[in-house]
Amino acid sequence: MVKCKYDSFNRLAIINDPELLSESFQKILSEKEKGQIKTNIYLRESEQWHRLSKDGVVDHDIAKNTLAVLENNITSTKNHCLFYEPSLKTWFCSYNPLSTKILALSIQSNVTNLSIDEDYIKCLFQFYCHQLQMLQGSYRDALTGLYNRRAFNEKMVQLLENPDSYARRSIDYSPTIYAMLDIDHFKQINDTFGHLYGDEVLIMLSNLMTESFRENDMLFRYGGEEFALVMMDIDGEQAKQSLERFRIKVARHKFANLDQVTISIGFTRFDRNLSIDELIRMADTALYYCKNTTRNAVHNYNDLLDKGLISVVEGIDSTQIQIF
Ligand code: GH3
Ligand code: MG
Ligand code: MG
Repeated sequence: MVKCKYDSFNRLAIINDPELLSESFQKILSEKEKGQIKTNIYLRESEQWHRLSKDGVVDHDIAKNTLAVLENNITSTKNHCLFYEPSLKTWFCSYNPLSTKILALSIQSNVTNLSIDEDYIKCLFQFYCHQLQMLQGSYRDALTGLYNRRAFNEKMVQLLENPDSYARRSIDYSPTIYAMLDIDHFKQINDTFGHLYGDEVLIMLSNLMTESFRENDMLFRYGGEEFALVMMDIDGEQAKQSLERFRIKVARHKFANLDQVTISIGFTRFDRNLSIDELIRMADTALYYCKNTTRNAVHNYNDLLDKGLISVVEGIDSTQIQIF
């Protein structure tokens, strides 16, 4: 047994939690079938298969016949595969989120005549892979550890254009608020204390964000000193309160050498009828209203619109533009 090397394994373990995956299956099973589904997650690294377990530990001890199936069938780093192995009464799905590793998920049932829909398995597996991808290094910003722009692009497409992949996920959270956050007068901080100190502020702010928002909310470093946030299952009023609390927390936080660091926030309601570009421009419009007025404030695009303080973001034909 060796300690898993992922820094973010605490969070990864939540996704890689075989019990969580089992739980999602339990929901579609009859009373009789419940408790008879077993899931495992395997990782191939350094020419060897390991089993990932809940508590951040990689276990090399895999049953011989399972290992043989993994060795013989899941060899490519390029293709997804999904197959049923009758001798083990097990479904195997594999996916390669990065270039050098192969991951596999096995779903085993001892119940005869268990009719798990193949589509459902695919869907669950896809959800699991996407979550895992998000947690891998290439989807993280190196400085702050938040999801990076690449993760943002992919996640937003998924949230807006593939709602079906969310509709059947094991945890039913739906995105409701899209917010953009920007540090006020950040250039001055750089100019006064140097770029390295500016970096330090970015890291501290990111840490504050991570500890302030809910586990299911998605935090991205959108670029430079700008951050994006997708909040799950929260209404406009609650979002406003939560963002306002965060704004105050930042304004009150003691950053060494600085009297105060403040942020401006613009947000809008998440609407799957919008294009990514429209959603970003709406939150951006509210953010820039902050910048042009008081800074250190939170504004809701829809409220500003109702009050006639901004003009409507015109819909554009998203097929005509290259967004990213
Ligand atoms: P405003 O209140 O209008 O947002 O003003 P601002 O100074 O924050 O905004 P501006 O866009 O004028 O400047 C942003 C600065 O952020 C300029 C750029 O050098 C700095 N920046 C961007 N990325 C990084 C980074 O990774 N590290 C550091 N230290 N600075 C960065
Ligand atoms: Mg700024
Ligand atoms: Mg900016």
